[in-house]
Amino acid sequence: MIHLRFHDLIPPPPPGYDSGVVALIDQWLSAFRLDDHLHTHAAHVIGELPKAVRDDLMNDPGFVICDYEPGPSAVMRVPMGVPRFGSGGSRSVVLKRTLRRARRPFVRWLIAHELAHAYLRNEGRWDGDDPEAAADALAAEWGFPRPPAREAWASLIAR
Ligand SMILES: [Zn+2]
Repeated sequence: MIHLRFHDLIPPPPPGYDSGVVALIDQWLSAFRLDDHLHTHAAHVIGELPKAVRDDLMNDPGFVICDYEPGPSAVMRVPMGVPRFGSGGSRSVVLKRTLRRARRPFVRWLIAHELAHAYLRNEGRWDGDDPEAAADALAAEWGFPRPPAREAWASLIAR
């Protein structure tokens, strides 16, 4: 006779995986009140970040991620986080809500790219490094490569 306990039915988490982290990300992200779709994408991207990067962003009270509906009468208010002394100022990631209509790889790449800018404080990785190339390189390292230009364009006009 085989005795199965409940946890035998659940595949073991990958080594080093912190099962509390998903709930933590969700809770942390909820405070920013993103559009539901963008929240889901952002939670996924943040879950894929290396722990050191994720901790750097999540533990910074000066970090803010927000979204807005672009349009002729749009008023964008970017909430500023309260920078921690010596943390190098506040960091804001601003997402257009129209992004939710783009294709998944594009949305996730863009969020990862913006998070990379925040992580690098809009600098390059070293002196003379182009901040855009740096953000793309980090995003790709985290599993979110920049989609080919043609695909990116199609993503933007997708409805
Ligand atoms: Zn950029």
